[in-house]
Amino acid sequence: MSELLKEVVVEPGRLQSPSSILMYKQCPRKYYYRYIARLPVSRSIHLVRGSIAHKVLEDVYDLDMSNIPEAGFLFTLRVILQEMFRKEWEKSKDDLAELGLSSSELAKYYDETRVMINNFFHYTVDRIQQQQIEGAVSVKDAFMRIKPQREVELHSPSHNVRGYADAIQREQDKIIIIDYKTSKKCEITDEYRLQLGIYSMIYEEIERVPDEVGVFFLKHGQELRIPVTREMVEAARFECNAIHLNTRTKDIKDYPKKVTPLCKWSTGQCEFYDTCFNKTIQEFDTESKPNTFVRIGRKG
Ligand code: SF4
Repeated sequence: MSELLKEVVVEPGRLQSPSSILMYKQCPRKYYYRYIARLPVSRSIHLVRGSIAHKVLEDVYDLDMSNIPEAGFLFTLRVILQEMFRKEWEKSKDDLAELGLSSSELAKYYDETRVMINNFFHYTVDRIQQQQIEGAVSVKDAFMRIKPQREVELHSPSHNVRGYADAIQREQDKIIIIDYKTSKKCEITDEYRLQLGIYSMIYEEIERVPDEVGVFFLKHGQELRIPVTREMVEAARFECNAIHLNTRTKDIKDYPKKVTPLCKWSTGQCEFYDTCFNKTIQEFDTESKPNTFVRIGRKG
């Protein structure tokens, strides 16, 4: 990390987010297409089913559980979660239809996501039982105790960065920020670490540095946590400063392509692959017509 940039207070430019910062680091040209040119992005099944799962996990704590008998509480919670998931999937059926997947593919993703919701149920049961060990008198009481703050907007005006934390939990005196991921891999990658570092940096401005951050991997039913270190927060600050410095212009030439295996892989490709390699942007007037492509033509 450049010691110089660590110290410098950079005048923030456009509003950034953990996603935009990660996209810039993956490929500046991709950032340009997404956040400056604002090219339309088609939704993927991963995006749609991720929103469905997140919505269920966010809403489940808002339900009125007061009438559910203590004895059948966990069984009822499981049924409620699956029913909420079924309804959310149904509500998203137009979005799902637009993806052009076959019915067997959709059924596969439905089942996969149902398993994720079930994994969340078991994760919740584990947390409830932990609360009971620590003295919660009833299952319902324990459920209320583990209720996190959800979809918490974390905004740093000084860095002009905003993100949304899936869950902020308080365990005794500890503050823990948890993100829910539907990813295949069950590991806290450098990208996740940076995202969690940005949340921690912002949370420090709001209250104090959280004690731990982590990810609940819905596919694996496993939560991984790491302690928040000063180095992690400073790395996040560095990246926030760097992106404001690097995205001052709207000139495509300032956003080089970073060609990696993430451009195209065996089962997919970057959402801007065609624009990036098969088409040329012939005219793009960002000053007089912000975010408007005048013409996109194929090479030759
Ligand atoms: S195709 Fe590759 S180089 Fe082009 S925008 Fe996407 S990630 Fe960047």
